[in-house]
Amino acid sequence: MSETILKVAGLKVAYGGIKAVKGVDLEVRRGELVTLIGANGAGKTTTLKAITGTLPPCKVDGTISYLGQPLAGKQSFRLVEQKLAMVPEGRGVFTRMTIHENLLMGAYTRRDQAGIDADIEKWYAVFPRLKERSAQLAGTLSGGEQQMLAMARALMCHPTLLLLDEPSMGLSPIMVEKIFEVIRDVSRQGITILLVEQNAKLALQAAHRGYVMDSGAVTMTGNARDMLDDPRVQAAYLGE
Ligand code: ATP
Repeated sequence: MSETILKVAGLKVAYGGIKAVKGVDLEVRRGELVTLIGANGAGKTTTLKAITGTLPPCKVDGTISYLGQPLAGKQSFRLVEQKLAMVPEGRGVFTRMTIHENLLMGAYTRRDQAGIDADIEKWYAVFPRLKERSAQLAGTLSGGEQQMLAMARALMCHPTLLLLDEPSMGLSPIMVEKIFEVIRDVSRQGITILLVEQNAKLALQAAHRGYVMDSGAVTMTGNARDMLDDPRVQAAYLGE
């Protein structure tokens, strides 16, 4: 079995009196695309924020390890140096920088200028819309364009693990299709991905394995294909 890249054990998060995550265990192995699905408020984003250390002050218990080392207490900006990249919900692009500058920021830990330039051109080829607008301020881009930029920026650091929070949110069906095509492509290139998604069908179709979260707990896990065929998943999350 391949190496465990990310291991979350017994994670509990409480915002004041609200227990948002109630003892979650999950694991992502090298090369896997794992998806975390579940209804609004299930605790998916909270779980991702616990991994990246970006939770607001609140009570956190449990352990999170990345490449066998505990992540607790690491400043979140240090994670990129360890090749752990996150595309947060709402994209998080640098709104007052151009597209090009955002992409350069994604590569700030790298020193290989020729490689950086080549990667930027590669992403411009994947997303021609970004190339056309390379000098445009990111804050003036549409939601879909910001999502493309946020993904390309995260991938500029050549991550070992990519965390994606709701990449399809607020996008048109064509844009969702495009973003998922890129996610599948990135996964085929061997990058390990943890994908939080409300669009359970698309997420399970793209993923190797899945976890279902409900009211702060993991209620189901398994092979993504089997989950797509599971009548309980179909009834609760696939609208079938
Ligand atoms: P969605 O798909 O709607 O984003 P989610 O599964 O990602 O949902 P979370 O955002 O993790 O869910 O929220 C889990 C619970 O924690 C919710 O009940 C939410 O209201 C609560 N919560 C999240 N952030 C905070 C916060 N900063 N302060 C207080 N409660 C919060």
